[in-house]
Amino acid sequence: MKFDELKLHPSLLKAVKDQNYLTPTKIQEKAIPLILNKKDILGSAQTGTGKTAAFALPILHHLIIEKKQNSKISVQVLIVTPTRELAIQIGESFTSYSKYIDIKNTVIFGGVKQGKQTEILQKGVDILIATPGRLLDLMGQGFISLKNVSYFVLDEADRMLDMGFINDIKKLLEKLPSKRQSLFFSATMPSNIIKLSNSILNDPEKVAVHQISTTAETIKQVIYYTNKSDKKDLLNHILNDKIITQVLVFCRTKHGADRVVRNLTKIRIDAAAIHGDKSQVQRQRALQSFKEKRIRVLVATDIAARGIDIDKLNYVINYDIPNEAETYVHRIGR
Ligand code: AMP
Repeated sequence: MKFDELKLHPSLLKAVKDQNYLTPTKIQEKAIPLILNKKDILGSAQTGTGKTAAFALPILHHLIIEKKQNSKISVQVLIVTPTRELAIQIGESFTSYSKYIDIKNTVIFGGVKQGKQTEILQKGVDILIATPGRLLDLMGQGFISLKNVSYFVLDEADRMLDMGFINDIKKLLEKLPSKRQSLFFSATMPSNIIKLSNSILNDPEKVAVHQISTTAETIKQVIYYTNKSDKKDLLNHILNDKIITQVLVFCRTKHGADRVVRNLTKIRIDAAAIHGDKSQVQRQRALQSFKEKRIRVLVATDIAARGIDIDKLNYVINYDIPNEAETYVHRIGR
């Protein structure tokens, strides 16, 4: 399929061409026609699949057609994403795709002073890309109104919940107009995510792209049968083997990960955890220590570990077995 077949506005196709995108990715091919048709979307896709363009292009198309580029009104498109990095990336994508049109976007996130952000907001923007905390904060101060939002995107929903944003999202939903098109993306679809999506979407179309994969044949896999109460001792026993110089341990929950770290620290094994309750700085620090071999064990939850790439790692332990095969493959490597 070619981009031209997607019935997007010519000025968007031109911008896409400038990006050197030759053909639409799977998620783009599936989602763009549905979004152009004003359908709500429940999208199962990870970062790296081209999902940003999959929602950004048809939304921009709608704004062009509706001639709603009247920034004086107030925000018409709201995109909520869990981290500052993702927010910035999404903003950059919108800026590239809006190259030939007069549609303004801005990005807001916490951890920095708000002055520059509110200055831009006061001038008026069409598209707002935000992390939940700062968004609610600026709404509370009266800098942002959502009353004209007609397109709402919730990005990386699973990571959002893992980072503890559920109440923020609920508060946000109360402020959104009920007449809107909503797009919901998550890499995984456990029951709490489905429940959340049901509270947001109206008769959604499901779009899934899975990078179906199997584990690399070079990886040897072993399983130990044990009781839950003995897991801790079994882990200690395994780590007695000095051949395991470094290991990445996966846990299902944040508390579980912290517990493993505490137990290991007690027996003087250097360990650190990365999960949704840790700040970006703490996570980076833990990861760096692990890469520089200053700690022997890194304990992670799946979502915190997503995208991390560690060279020459010889051992991975699934302290808790994942519920999804895909997750297992991601953990141990392809
Ligand atoms: P995303 O999953 O949205 O984070 O996109 C991942 C990367 O793929 C980004 O760098 C995009 O610029 C790029 N990308 C998105 N769509 C396409 C496409 N159709 N062809 C080539 N690259 C793309």
